[in-house]
Amino acid sequence: MAKIVCVLYDDPVDGYPTSYARDDIPKIVKYPDGQTAPTPQAIDFKPGELLGSVSGALGLRDFLEKSGHTLVVTSDKDGANSKLDQELHDAEIIISQPFWPAYMTAERIAKAPKLKMIITAGIGSDHTDLQAAMDRGITVTEVTYSNSNSVAEHVVMMILALVRNYIPSYNWVIKGGWNIADCVSRSYDLEGMHVGTVAAGRIGLRVLRLLKPFGVQLHYMDRHPLPEAVETELNLTHHSSLESLAKVCDVVTLNCPLHPETEHMVNADSLKNFKRGAYLINTARGKLCDTNAVVAALESGQLAGYAGDVWFPQPAPADHPWRTMPHHGMTPHISGTSLSAQARYAAGTREILECYFEGRPIRDEYLIVQDGRLAGVGAHSYSAGNTTAGSEDAAKFKH
Ligand code: NDP
Repeated sequence: MAKIVCVLYDDPVDGYPTSYARDDIPKIVKYPDGQTAPTPQAIDFKPGELLGSVSGALGLRDFLEKSGHTLVVTSDKDGANSKLDQELHDAEIIISQPFWPAYMTAERIAKAPKLKMIITAGIGSDHTDLQAAMDRGITVTEVTYSNSNSVAEHVVMMILALVRNYIPSYNWVIKGGWNIADCVSRSYDLEGMHVGTVAAGRIGLRVLRLLKPFGVQLHYMDRHPLPEAVETELNLTHHSSLESLAKVCDVVTLNCPLHPETEHMVNADSLKNFKRGAYLINTARGKLCDTNAVVAALESGQLAGYAGDVWFPQPAPADHPWRTMPHHGMTPHISGTSLSAQARYAAGTREILECYFEGRPIRDEYLIVQDGRLAGVGAHSYSAGNTTAGSEDAAKFKH
């Protein structure tokens, strides 16, 4: 029987919910490319419940414990003597979500001699040292597509929030004001702007499709160009470098995975290529950007706004400069963990576990690393190596 360690974010400060704002959520059975939503044999939760926090346990407790496995669920993941570290010595499977990532560094992997699989409940396995996982023959999986559309909706929301100056205007209402001139002196229409996505994968392409009706000019940068029919349908301009895309875009959105090729792709040098007053939206990974370069670009006016939900490290320490930089629209990492998304990635996690325990193959779409190399989606979207350096700073976060 296996020991599974599941690292999840804390319950709400007022306790685990006893009721919800809505009675149900739409049932999504297929994604836009035809891939089916997760198909576990059963689920032990009601879609729409909070599953991603400790008490929700991703809806896995009954399934695992009734099968005789041991499930440890904790939010205590950082620092020298965290619960995660204490449990590593005999853990066979580690599960965590990118929102509250269990940074599986080479040091941690070395402390887990029985570790066979690391599951990302969600998308984005950069919190695992993929090179160390490959070297040890550990399988790394994620629930591809489970929250891609959730993030795309968030990207559109953040673009509109920045361009139209929503958050400062909302704050004037809260402060009791009616300061129209203060609100609108940074407010524009999106219509007619040039918007570009770095990567046109599941999220990036969805963002392009959602934005089309706004009457914008659409651009994308990706290693593999999209099919010509899609380029024609959306009137897309393909760029082979960030430099070429940034030079013409009023809004740039980052939608690629974090891997050694993309780490710090937005930095003091590359920001010089952006149009003055560009907006940058990053819901992909904090480490795609150099933290201080983003702050400097906002302070100088090179960027008119920056919004996103991803930081490095996570949780971000109280003194992280992105909490206080000007013209930002940051939230904690939430875009991919709406209650709707949780239902899908919890079911996907269960599907992966069922396959693992029954010796059935895990869907190719869910594989990042297998048999010592990048596999499945991982072989397409990632490059080998490690992007976890500096993650120990997550221990600086204090509640
Ligand atoms: P996909 O795998 O569908 O898309 C990733 C795309 O990135 C692929 O099209 C890939 O291109 C492209 N890409 C990879 N490397 C580069 C590069 N060097 N330059 C340009 N493009 C590159 O993943 P999703 O769209 O579903 O998710 C993308 C990322 O978004 C995730 O990896 C994760 O980091 C983040 N995410 C964030 C969430 C949140 O809650 N904020 C939730 C879900 C995901 P190609 O096919 O040509 O290799």
